[in-house]
Amino acid sequence: MKLFDTLTQEQKNINKEVINIYSCGPTIYDYIHIGNARPIILMDTLIRFLESQDIRVNFLQNITDIDDKIIEKAIQENKTEKEITDKYLSAFLQNLKDLKIRMPDKLIPISEKISEMNLFIDDLVKLEAAYNVDGDVYFDIQKFSNEYGKLSNKKINDLISGNRVEIEDKKNNPLDFSVWKKTEKGITFDSNFGKGRPGWHTECALLIDEYFKGETIDIHSGGIDLQFPHHENERIQFIAKHGNEISNIWVHNGHLTIDGEKMSKSLGNTMTLTNFLANYNSDVLRWIFLTTYYKQPLNIKDDLIEQANKFIQKINNLSKKIKQLLIENKFNQSSQFDEEIIKEFKIHMENDLNTSRVLTLLEDTLKDINKLSALKKFDDLFLKINSLNYILETLGLSININTFISEEDQNLFLSWKKLVSEKDFEKADEVRKILISKGIL
Ligand SMILES: [Zn+2]
Repeated sequence: MKLFDTLTQEQKNINKEVINIYSCGPTIYDYIHIGNARPIILMDTLIRFLESQDIRVNFLQNITDIDDKIIEKAIQENKTEKEITDKYLSAFLQNLKDLKIRMPDKLIPISEKISEMNLFIDDLVKLEAAYNVDGDVYFDIQKFSNEYGKLSNKKINDLISGNRVEIEDKKNNPLDFSVWKKTEKGITFDSNFGKGRPGWHTECALLIDEYFKGETIDIHSGGIDLQFPHHENERIQFIAKHGNEISNIWVHNGHLTIDGEKMSKSLGNTMTLTNFLANYNSDVLRWIFLTTYYKQPLNIKDDLIEQANKFIQKINNLSKKIKQLLIENKFNQSSQFDEEIIKEFKIHMENDLNTSRVLTLLEDTLKDINKLSALKKFDDLFLKINSLNYILETLGLSININTFISEEDQNLFLSWKKLVSEKDFEKADEVRKILISKGIL
């Protein structure tokens, strides 16, 4: 399988029996927005596909439950930090459940790893990759000037002259980032450097180091906004400690915009995932993300939501039609696949997750199913239906063409037909309502 790697700017092959994956998790100080769902669904799509190919996946994700934003929110709302993190962690977990995400093998709140984080920072100091200034510990970029900036394709001098960097007197270099922050505000922890909090960039580097035992993982993923400085800083800490890359492939997804505008709190156009899922089925969001190459920006607007709904409706309608056809015609259902369709699906997925081509394949298969059902060519029809259902399920979509008919359903449908032919419309209407609720009519 090929995936595009941000570091080398080329497609790389991953053909392994076990694949180790890390994704940066959310900072749990608020509801996540639908833009945050893009990397989540992207990894879910990839992992589901890999597992469908009998590849074992080890998937690790962090939860940032210590952060200045959490402290600020707690002060604002006159709550404890724990009240804030408990609330938004459970909202996040509910989001994952509603999106039917294959859960990470390990989901680790970073507050559980403070002592490990201290040891990691200690190591960086001992290696002289980080330095302690009066209880604040910074990573020393200059020592790694040959490597720093490679992931985001930036030069250190350009970064320093850019306005992203705040000048702080304590640092050797304005780009040096905090790995341990001396502070007395909010929750603090003891360390060899005094009271304070660990830096965000160190969380992921530490977790990957610990869980995957210092080995280079296969895939590190996240939104493009994390590429710099977060991923750059994760990578450099790992190189400082181990001398090897933190990840073989960096997968970054493009921005999500709503009606052409980037979502931001200040614009007031953020849509929380919780709100979105209250209005639309999770299949809508999954389908929308599948339409576009994941590295491209994606603009969500009403007509895209409408197209997603149409796709879902099309499958539901076809599912009803097939059920009726199966009730009225006796034959044996097969569980075979159309090998050509399965092969094509695999080719598109292995080509850097070319999911828009998969959607075209699904549309073509739906047309074939329509034709074959009209012709009552049941053997071919079942090959296509089974293949369609297999792809939908592998993509994490919950819709399918349901071919299971119970005897009760069959009798009910036939009795409705009889009542209609006998012009007993009142009774027919009652049975019709039941058939609709069962998804047969
Ligand atoms: Zn991270």
